[in-house]
Amino acid sequence: MKNLITLIALALMPTTALAQDDAPPPAPKWSLAIHGGAGTLSRDAMTPEKRAEYEAALQAALDAGAKVLADGGSAMDAIKAAIMPMEDSPLFNAGKGAVFTWEGTNELDSSIMDGRDRSAGAVAGVKTVKNPILLADTVRTKSPHVMLMGTGAEQFAAEQGFAVTPPEYFATESRLRSLERMKAEQLSAIDVDLKFGTVGAVALDQNGNMAAGTSTGGMTGKRWGRIGDAPVIGAGTYADNRACAVSATGWGEYFIRVGVAHEICARLRMRGILGTQDIADSVMAEVAELGGDGGVILVTPDGEAIFSFNTSGMYRGRATSAGVNEVAIFGGEDQASATPEH
Ligand code: ASP
Repeated sequence: MKNLITLIALALMPTTALAQDDAPPPAPKWSLAIHGGAGTLSRDAMTPEKRAEYEAALQAALDAGAKVLADGGSAMDAIKAAIMPMEDSPLFNAGKGAVFTWEGTNELDSSIMDGRDRSAGAVAGVKTVKNPILLADTVRTKSPHVMLMGTGAEQFAAEQGFAVTPPEYFATESRLRSLERMKAEQLSAIDVDLKFGTVGAVALDQNGNMAAGTSTGGMTGKRWGRIGDAPVIGAGTYADNRACAVSATGWGEYFIRVGVAHEICARLRMRGILGTQDIADSVMAEVAELGGDGGVILVTPDGEAIFSFNTSGMYRGRATSAGVNEVAIFGGEDQASATPEH
């Protein structure tokens, strides 16, 4: 018996020693990931100045959200803090700088979800709300509904005290040129929008709560009241404390058909031995199989902050309490792994 115990102890020793040496780093207490759209981004077509401008805008959004989380604030507040500066920046296809519809208007879609109770809010086709993410959140907290559209959503906004922003505020020269090019050269939105530019953020806070939000102008030249995935809970946005928070960007029709954001969270809940990156990649592979493209950002209860995209680039950033802080644009540029080893 004594020999047996000695044997077992000996057999266990190297493993124990190894475990001590390679002890996994503690899981981050908070984490945040953001995106500013995915698409065909060409290194050659981007000047150093333009690149610096995008990186600065992404860093500002990341810093705003990270500060909330580092100070002990909620995931909900962090994602709003990160998304609003991107809605306000003309660089991104959300809020100011939104793409034009076929009729020459800017119509905004947004959604938000709280992983604590899976409460969600969304708006589609709004034209006079400066920060649609805030309206989506007010739908979540102040209405009995999940999704409001068009003039009804604007009426609700007015009743909730939102200022009416003149539609001209959202219009930019470069987005107008994209619409004109599309019409003149009979291009599709995919051809004309070399990048899409939707914005989104996902966060895990120090209390273990998660939230996700997405905001967009949709696709250039959209018509007939087209609505993409961004305001569709389960497609462009999903948050569930049991599994993850996800925000998507890309060719919305495919993201709706795959139910990307919910699909990722559902697979994570039943993950078995599969890693988070593999699960996100496998859902994005389904989007590609159907003919779509784009990307997702996600965080998990373990503090992982993950990107997965099948386009040449995605404007993105991530930060964690473990010291990760990076922004990137093209594929393969991420400096640090924000994935704790398990
Ligand atoms: N997903 C958005 C849409 O289809 C577009 C984008 O992400 O840029 O409306």
